[in-house]
Order: sequence, then C-alpha cells, then structure tokens
Amino acid sequence: MLKLGFNEATCKENSSVERDLILCEKYGYDFIELRLDMLQEYFKTHTIDDLKAFFDKSHLKPFAFNSIENINFNTPEQWNELVELFTFGCEVAQAIGNPYMIVVPTMGPDMDRKTEQEVFEDSVKVLNRLADIAEPYGVRCAFEPIGDRRWCCNSIRQALEIVQAVDRASVGLTVDCINFYMHDKCADLEYIAQIPQDKLFVYHINDCEDLPLRVLDHCHRIMPGEGCIPVAAISKKVMEVGYHGPACLELFRPAYWEMDAEDVICMGAKKCAAFLHH
Ligand code: ZN
Repeated sequence: MLKLGFNEATCKENSSVERDLILCEKYGYDFIELRLDMLQEYFKTHTIDDLKAFFDKSHLKPFAFNSIENINFNTPEQWNELVELFTFGCEVAQAIGNPYMIVVPTMGPDMDRKTEQEVFEDSVKVLNRLADIAEPYGVRCAFEPIGDRRWCCNSIRQALEIVQAVDRASVGLTVDCINFYMHDKCADLEYIAQIPQDKLFVYHINDCEDLPLRVLDHCHRIMPGEGCIPVAAISKKVMEVGYHGPACLELFRPAYWEMDAEDVICMGAKKCAAFLHH
C-alpha cells in the first residue's frame, strides 16, 4: 500500500507553500514534497519555526525537497551555486524532519553526446560529493533519471548502476511515471523489480497524453488514469519492491495552473486513490 503525496510543482503557478500546506492537510494527503524556490519565497514572510509548527500540529508531513537540478558536468562557479542551494535545503530539511532531496541529472543540447561512461563517472563523483554534504544533516539524495534524451541520465537502469556504484545508504532513486515512460514507453517495466528496496526512495505519480516521444514533454503530464502510461502496473511494481512510502502527485500542466489550486489538489487526491492499493 502506498501513501498519498503531493509535489508542489502541480500548483506551482497558482499556489504557495502556505496554501499547499493547508489544502493538502484538508484533502487528506499524508506527505508533501516542497519546492526549494517556493520555500525561498515562503521564508520572505515566515520562519523555519512557522514551518515546523505547522507540521507538528498536522497529519501532513514533509517528504522530499525539489529539486537540485543539473548536478553533472558543472563549472566550479555552477557547482558553488548548486552547493549553496543544496546546503540551504539540507538546513531546512534537518530542522523540519524532511528526509529526502531530489537530485536531477544535467539537461542541455549536448547531453545526448555524452557517453554512458562519462555520465557514469561524473554522476558517481557528484553524488558522492552531495552525500558528503547531506549526511551530517541526516538528509538522503534521491537521484531521478529524466526520460528525455536532453538529460544525460534517462533510464532507471542507468541511474541504478550509478547509485549502486556510489554504494552509500544515503543515495538512492526516484521512480517517476512519465520519466520512466519517456525512456522507452515502459518496455522495461520489469526493470523496476530489480531495484533493491533500500534504493527506492521516492515515487512520483502522474500520467501523460498519448504523444510521440519526440513531442511529449513535461507540460503534457496529466492526472493519473487519464493518459496512456500504465500507472497501475508501475505502482504495483513499486509496491512489490517493498516501497510503501507516498506516491507523490507531480504535474507540470499549464491548464492546472489556470485552475483554483483547491480544485486541483482535491481532484488529485481522488485520482491518485485508485493507485494506492494493490
Ligand atoms: Zn519527478
């Protein structure tokens, strides 16, 4: 059985940390994945103690921060900027008891020119460096392959080989339905079963419109059950691995940003419910 989670990307243009917290609590979500950019906005008018006080009195709990992006092939300047944001995230995470940080491979026009070995070596190196920073805060890194070839690591197979080489308890994987689908339309569904239980940290649930892979993008994400991804089969595999954390609803759909966030969050809870049980 899976818990119900909400990822703030879903209403990032029509809500805020304050509002997402209240609405997710109201509609029965168990966990929330806060966004670092939205958290920085929140801290212009709130303190860590405000955030901590909310979670102390609520059923809703923090699960993962999103996200540290473009972790690979950085210049020293880019790396320093990334570490600054990452350290901010670790400090807040420790204060409120948020266990995971989502870390994402680098995206760019030349990323599909990188060899598998180049991506492997760089990823092992940077994930180790991030884990060195995160571990003293009690934070774990959930590496998320992005299915599109514009990102340098785009399959669960490739990402699992990387985290297994890193071989630290604090470094594991995020499985995301559309990213899994974008790689090869879920031809490798059985591969999820090969993820060791202790390496599956986070599960992102979503669906997408039935479009060719060269056209399909994150704006085409849609509520689970309304698209062409075998969401039930993926959720079942994730549960069979022994993952019983939240399925976190993560959408980047402009049409949902046009709606009232309350309607989206209410609808999300109903749409996800069908996939939380075997
Ligand atoms: Zn995701």
